[in-house]
Amino acid sequence: MLKKRILFIILAIFLIYSLWLSFNSLSFKTYKAPALKASSLEIQGIYHIHTRFSDGRKTTDEIAGLASKAGLNFIILTDHGSPNRESYASQGWKNGVLVLAGSELSVSRGHLVGLDFKLLSSNFSQNAEEAVFGIMAAGGFSVIAHPYSKVQWSWGENIGYSGIEIVNANFMLKEELLFSVPYLPALLIKPSYSLLKILDSPQRELRKWDELNKISQIYGYFSTDAHLLYRSALDFLRLHIILDAPLSSDFESARGQVFEALRSGRFYNAMHAAAQAEGFRFWGERGKEVIPMGGTALFQSGFTLHIQAPFPYAKEIHLIQDGKSIFRSTEENIYFEAKQPGVYRVEVYLREKSPLGKEIPWIVSNPIFLREDKNVDR
Ligand SMILES: [Zn+2]
Ligand SMILES: [Zn+2]
Repeated sequence: MLKKRILFIILAIFLIYSLWLSFNSLSFKTYKAPALKASSLEIQGIYHIHTRFSDGRKTTDEIAGLASKAGLNFIILTDHGSPNRESYASQGWKNGVLVLAGSELSVSRGHLVGLDFKLLSSNFSQNAEEAVFGIMAAGGFSVIAHPYSKVQWSWGENIGYSGIEIVNANFMLKEELLFSVPYLPALLIKPSYSLLKILDSPQRELRKWDELNKISQIYGYFSTDAHLLYRSALDFLRLHIILDAPLSSDFESARGQVFEALRSGRFYNAMHAAAQAEGFRFWGERGKEVIPMGGTALFQSGFTLHIQAPFPYAKEIHLIQDGKSIFRSTEENIYFEAKQPGVYRVEVYLREKSPLGKEIPWIVSNPIFLREDKNVDR
């Protein structure tokens, strides 16, 4: 009898909590900044999507249709395979969206995403080191997928990876599955709100990334890893690429532009479901020398770092040097003189009533590497 009563009380609390979350989700709207002028040099896209060519639920065409409605410029498919040749063949312009494809390889150390490689007749090795080398030999580059899916870091030292997934929505949501049960009704009402609420903090991945960058040059990716619920997934996380020239209408040239920007770290990541992040900029200057995000320069005195965060929402900008937050500001234009060599990057936290946890950055830039000796790289 008593047991039943306790069970009933627990269930009642759970239901009330769940209803309260649903009620909260109703008032949530992604922050949008209508005053911002779109620049044709900034494009937005999604990295890491599965289609029916592996374990995704929709076809490339269906996903491209949704991506077009979501206002995306590009999507990067990463179907399983070594490589996935059908997915690779489905690349092209679809519904005005640039559809690119790499492959997600299962290798000895975990999952590895290969991008921008030329299709060869032989498959890539299942050995992580050999696969990285094989992708490079085919003209491509590789990104470590969901680095902590094996609980512990399994990737050793850098052997030529170009990037690491600092956020993987699929794994970070799965890890929190038990805690997300009360969100189920809210998930139906406002998926973006619930997904942001459930998302786990990426601090472990960010710390690892900073550690690797002391001796390497690795770029950070927000990875959607979408298999289903594409409509919400395409609105969740985004990569913002800063181009030198507007995106070409020629497929091969446009493909080259996107992959070249990813290879050189000229992109930042944003939790798009929380707020629109278009217009963020981070670059370095010394006299006439301009170092774009992702770039490397020999450290000399008189080097200024510039951050632009022209957003009308309450936010806090953190400048991070070698993994340590060295400067915080709520200003929209920041000039900071770098007094030491180091790896500098930016995180922006939303301080509006946001469903994002306090530890979860809304924007994560790629670093600017001010090295004591240029030869340190790679
Ligand atoms: Zn994977
Ligand atoms: Zn995947």
